[in-house]
Amino acid sequence: MFKKILVANRGEIALRVICACKELGIRAVAIYSEADRNSLHVRFADEAICIGPPQLAQSYLNIPAVISAAEIANVDAIHPGYGLLSENANFAEVCAACHIKFIGPTPEVIRLMGEKEKARAAMKQHGVPILPGSDGVIASDGEALEWARQVGFPVIIKASAGGGGRGMRIVRNEEDLPGLYRQAQSEASAAFGNGDLYMEKYVERPRHIEFQVLADEHGNVVSLGERECSIQRRHQKLIEESPSVRVSPELRQEIGGILSKTLSAVGYHNAGTIEFLMDQDSRLHFIEMNTRIQVEHPVTEMVTDVDLVKSQIMIAAGAKMADVLQGPIVHRGHAIECRINAEHPEKFTPSAGKITTFHPPGGTGVRVDTAAYAEGTIPPYYDSLIAKLVARGKDRNEAISRMGRALEMFIVEGIYTTIPLHRRILADAEFRAGNIDTGFIERFLAKKEAVG
Ligand code: ADP
Repeated sequence: MFKKILVANRGEIALRVICACKELGIRAVAIYSEADRNSLHVRFADEAICIGPPQLAQSYLNIPAVISAAEIANVDAIHPGYGLLSENANFAEVCAACHIKFIGPTPEVIRLMGEKEKARAAMKQHGVPILPGSDGVIASDGEALEWARQVGFPVIIKASAGGGGRGMRIVRNEEDLPGLYRQAQSEASAAFGNGDLYMEKYVERPRHIEFQVLADEHGNVVSLGERECSIQRRHQKLIEESPSVRVSPELRQEIGGILSKTLSAVGYHNAGTIEFLMDQDSRLHFIEMNTRIQVEHPVTEMVTDVDLVKSQIMIAAGAKMADVLQGPIVHRGHAIECRINAEHPEKFTPSAGKITTFHPPGGTGVRVDTAAYAEGTIPPYYDSLIAKLVARGKDRNEAISRMGRALEMFIVEGIYTTIPLHRRILADAEFRAGNIDTGFIERFLAKKEAVG
């Protein structure tokens, strides 16, 4: 087992990894920017190294600075968390060249899944259902039009290197295509330094459903079931739950089986998430794979009792799946996660600043993953996620009522947060009935405006 791990991240996920290290008896090394000097991940790590000024490019995304810290601290491995360098194949390569274990899949597999049209082709080859679309990158708006005619409108143009919902455009008719194609291309070039685009059939009112997998380095892959993440705003997740009310045990088993075979064939290691859209006939279609731990991993942990981050570390150290899991995967109850962002709850503008009061809820079935605290400051440079509130119940109704009371008991003052928005969503009849899709928030906000 590793003796020392560098946590190449900040905020709640850095703390989450530090928790796993502590439970495994591994020393954790934090890195931090000058803006994060007083952060809890620095406080709870065994060692901490300042790696630069607040700007991401000069600190958490600065590969030479991160690697230097790892060498100074003499660590065995690096856990990248999510975001930042977690899906950077080049970073994984540099780690390997420096004989530091990157806790994740190989650089080749990260690269394959990072080029989304190539990932689509790989999944299709192994029998994973994908949406009709272009075979590979589209070279021009003329080619885009040909594909769109073949697939049928509406279509969605997407960035090959996409992430965070950027570089995506829904096209409903031929006339709009050239303009939207150019918009997607310039947005993708600006955001990812890569303007490659591909195209898929656009699914009306889809549900976003994703499968969590763990794969060891000996060819064993297990599926830990699904999470439903249909409550999204601007294609970014806001509420996630497990299980999905629309996934039957048969479908769960069927998709789990296909994914296990596929990931074993592509040589996948460590934790990963395969994202699907579900159409109105309850069919699942692959959209992309994330080769890292996800923000919403706690809902799976709550219903399976598997510690995914500890599993990642054990797998990277060479453990076999049977030793990691120590028994079959059993799903019990229902869990929901609300992402608490430092944002204005309706305008969705970031709200950095000093937190004056911070009272997280507790009690049976409630988990809060956060690095925020009273008198602490939310710097303006980073992601707006400040806490993840997770509630588990014996069924969906109990999870919802537990989440409702936990949101009532969550006090954050000094900055705006999404807590009031979550309280209203949890009280909504459509949400409570499980009638959700990726357009839920838009309709929900419009409904509220209509009412007053
Ligand atoms: P990103 O990597 O930018 O997050 P994804 O491919 O994961 O992009 O898609 C993000 C979200 O965009 C999905 O959860 C869904 O809401 C919407 N979306 C993506 N592809 C489609 C599609 N083919 N039809 C309808 N909605 C889509």
